[in-house]
Amino acid sequence: MTSQQFRQYAHQLADWMADYLENIEQYPVKAQVQPGQILDQLPALPPTHAEDFEKILSDFSAIILPGITHWQHPSFFAYFPANSSYASVLAEMLTATLAAQCMLWDTSPAAAELEERMLDWLKLLTGLPQHLQGTLCDGASTATLSAILAAREKATGFSVNRHGFTCNSAVLRVYTSAEAHSSVEKAAKMAGIGQENVVKIAVDAQFRLQPQLLQEAIAEDINKNYTPLCVVATLGTTGCTAIDPLEEIANICNRFSVWLHVDAAYAGTALLLPEYRWMLKGMEQADSFVFNPHKWLFTNFDCSAFYVKDKDTLLKTFSILPEYLKTEHRNQVNNYSEWSPQLGRRFRALKLWFVLRNFGSQQLQEKIRHHINLAHSLSHQIKQHLLFEIAAPVTLNLVCFRLVPPWLQQQPDELNALNEQLLQRLNQSGKMYLSHTKLNGLYTLRMVIGQTYVSQKHVAAAWELIQTHAAALLSGNE
Ligand SMILES: *Cc1c(COP(=O)(O)O)cnc(C)c1O
Repeated sequence: MTSQQFRQYAHQLADWMADYLENIEQYPVKAQVQPGQILDQLPALPPTHAEDFEKILSDFSAIILPGITHWQHPSFFAYFPANSSYASVLAEMLTATLAAQCMLWDTSPAAAELEERMLDWLKLLTGLPQHLQGTLCDGASTATLSAILAAREKATGFSVNRHGFTCNSAVLRVYTSAEAHSSVEKAAKMAGIGQENVVKIAVDAQFRLQPQLLQEAIAEDINKNYTPLCVVATLGTTGCTAIDPLEEIANICNRFSVWLHVDAAYAGTALLLPEYRWMLKGMEQADSFVFNPHKWLFTNFDCSAFYVKDKDTLLKTFSILPEYLKTEHRNQVNNYSEWSPQLGRRFRALKLWFVLRNFGSQQLQEKIRHHINLAHSLSHQIKQHLLFEIAAPVTLNLVCFRLVPPWLQQQPDELNALNEQLLQRLNQSGKMYLSHTKLNGLYTLRMVIGQTYVSQKHVAAAWELIQTHAAALLSGNE
């Protein structure tokens, strides 16, 4: 491709991108394809000869697009959103063009310094304690792994880093709620701590970790000669956005000198609203914190903000300095590859800068508040409906509900099957996309109202569709 052709296609693609986003509601939200359907259309062998860009583009439309789930569709209510925004997409275009690899300050000083400033801005916007220092990583899973590794090294005097686990190594224990994200267990596996040493603390009726039980579990482990290593508290669980009582948990961690990591991957965005800052009470005592602007803060995946209280422990856990990575300004600057498992790093701060400036904190707050209000008003409507129930408190903008016809109230298996069917039909309609979880063993539909472009109209249409499909299912004449 020549530079002239690049220019021409870039303009063409810019139009395609704008058209796509303007007309996104014409696509089925969830890809309506069968396993293997896309694979079968892709040649088994790579091309030997150069292919026309026109042809590549037309295959993109014909083969790839039908197999895409449209996460930026305003009727995407599944999982947690992975939002983008115009400003963010434009920044990604620049990032791709610069294609800088930002492992060291030297390999792009502006990337390192912008990252430092953006982490400070996020701290101010969310009300996080000023003493925290942060970096951008690919996701909350990496941040949680990093936190557990740093906790492990701090607790063992950096001996696992040096010697690995030995037969004399203590049994290290990690505590988290039964509703915590699976990334905690995954991190414990990867950190050599072992899945069996993740202690799941039972939750209360509102799905929050019970501090009393945490304290008992830690005391019991100490009696057994285990070493309590780390507690992972969640602000906004993935199942139903329960908010763990941070202050009580922090006091316990403090008492037993246990690392406290706070996973606010999704709900961290709500901290932009002063009325949600109560969630942070106790945060001054925490050792680390993660939240994902790439979920609800209109910034393209991947962009996860990871903060620590003690930067030196983190850097000592990760830094490794072969001759070829030694640089002149090492002691004056941040070399972010020393802050996490990744060496090579994308320039993630640029899109965050574009988003925070192009929206401004006021518009960000308005949008987030709007989403939360939409969720609360939907939950009132669901509550009033005789055939539905709300399955968990609506703490933010996730509504957990299920279809519970009175005559099936005592039959959990039938109820589970019914709700699973309802979910499938809604998603097959292409008009909306929901996901599910299980709460107290009951199949529960999750509807997150947080997509960048979602409005009252989309929520109302979704609620109509839910009622229609539920009625059809119950009358058997679908
Ligand atoms: C989404 C989520 C994660 C995982 O986030 P990734 O960035 O995909 O690794 C972890 N914890 C919670 C509470 C989440 O909601």
